[in-house]
Amino acid sequence: MPDATSSPSPSDRPISELFAEKRQLRSLEFFPPKDEAGVDALRQTAAALQKIEPDFVSMTYGAGGSTQERTAQMTCLLREEFGFTVMPHLTAVNHTRAEVAAVADGHYGRGIRNIMALRGDVPNGLSAASAFKEDLRFGSDVVALLKELHPDLCLGVGGYPEKHPEAPSFDADLANLKRKVDAGASFITTQLFFDNDAFHRFVDRCRAAGITVPIVPGIMPVLSLHQVTRITRICGASLPERLVRRIEAAGDQPEIIEAVGIDWALAQIRDLLAAGAPGYHLYILNRARAALTLAAGLAA
Ligand SMILES: Cc1cc2nc3c(=O)[nH]c(=O)nc-3n(C[C@H](O)[C@H](O)[C@H](O)COP(=O)(O)OP(=O)(O)OC[C@H]3O[C@@H](n4cnc5c(N)ncnc54)[C@H](O)[C@@H]3O)c2cc1C
Repeated sequence: MPDATSSPSPSDRPISELFAEKRQLRSLEFFPPKDEAGVDALRQTAAALQKIEPDFVSMTYGAGGSTQERTAQMTCLLREEFGFTVMPHLTAVNHTRAEVAAVADGHYGRGIRNIMALRGDVPNGLSAASAFKEDLRFGSDVVALLKELHPDLCLGVGGYPEKHPEAPSFDADLANLKRKVDAGASFITTQLFFDNDAFHRFVDRCRAAGITVPIVPGIMPVLSLHQVTRITRICGASLPERLVRRIEAAGDQPEIIEAVGIDWALAQIRDLLAAGAPGYHLYILNRARAALTLAAGLAA
């Protein structure tokens, strides 16, 4: 496994430069596996995905810093072994400014120039007062800190087409999103959604609010009704009736549900790209199949 402290490779290109080329970018999101079997599976997934040449790949950061080491190691693995342009996620919850700075400095020292800057969710059982340290309370605080440390870092931030679940109103959430961009974020990747109208309305409202950076739609192909119901309950995305009916009609046959999920995601991505989205970000849950099938469908 690559050593997260190994000697630096040349610095990555900032993703903002890729967006400036006006191509529609494809990015893929991984999470750090818990054990060595998961690492082997991640390697196999990454090897399979090399052939579709993602423009960049991201690696999530576990709640409260629980995957700090693993996120760094797996980001290095994808970068060093597979040559991907990488974007580790970094969340502030449960961290002091010095701890966030240490993680960011580690990435920067290894030549990584792209970070997804997030507040993170309050871990179960903790109050917001104890979960957030010092003055790191919001995504905009993380963006400001990282930009202060390394002005040339390219930062992505999260956006919520159907409103962040904690926000009192859509307008308040939009004002807070603008704070992140004003603090120095270069692009927005959205929370997953299944209804493209929600994304189109969101982009219109962002533009009207003066947010001009690329807004990348986040898409997750459904794998099961249980999975999608659980995720949408947590993140607040709505599930279109038509999609639920199609999943239910598939009964308990996983391959048919997967095919329904791919079909829905493919229709979503085609519509988004045709409408001029700057690309798409796939929540692939460390599996190659959906991303490969979608790439084949889009090539047709
Ligand atoms: C693309 C993407 C990737 C993600 N990756 C991860 C990951 O790797 N690990 C992980 O744990 N989670 C991840 N998440 C989930 C994310 O951590 C949660 O959605 C979290 O609750 C919000 O993080 P944020 O940075 O978007 O928060 P913020 O932008 O800080 O927003 C959180 C809430 O605070 C409000 N708010 C913001 N600023 C202010 C202010 N100044 N005053 C008052 N209210 C304010 C917002 O309106 C919103 O309701 C990801 C989400 C997305 C969209």
